[in-house]
Amino acid sequence: MTEKNEQLRAQLIAAVVKKRAAIARAQEIVVRLLEPSIAEAEFLAMLWEIAPHNYIDVVDEREISKNCGYPLCSNALENVPKQKYQISATRNKVYDLTERKKFCSGYCFRASEYIKAQVPTLPLWLRDREPRPSFQLLPRDK
Ligand SMILES: [Zn+2]
Repeated sequence: MTEKNEQLRAQLIAAVVKKRAAIARAQEIVVRLLEPSIAEAEFLAMLWEIAPHNYIDVVDEREISKNCGYPLCSNALENVPKQKYQISATRNKVYDLTERKKFCSGYCFRASEYIKAQVPTLPLWLRDREPRPSFQLLPRDK
């Protein structure tokens, strides 16, 4: 093998190792976000190290364990409506409750959607070259 090939091979291996490490780190964060009591600053910092599908996993896993889907909320899910749709006579509309039912309140649902929209789509292992955005929480209802 020539020296150039040797070098390319080393670069390729380094890239694979980096990619695997980034994926493993994202998985650790998913597990962490299933636990109660995460500080706001810690939560926001974690968003830079996960992909959109990781965030969706967190919400779904929390729902399965009967916790509010929003990672900053420690409420249990209680009195979850059985029906899939809700009909609003006043607005003459049918609402799909599938996503909303994963949260204890309208606020948590909106706050989670707000976070989900901010999770970067850039591949995890390419983020170290990019500037980190400043993530925001949805302000509490007054
Ligand atoms: Zn909640």
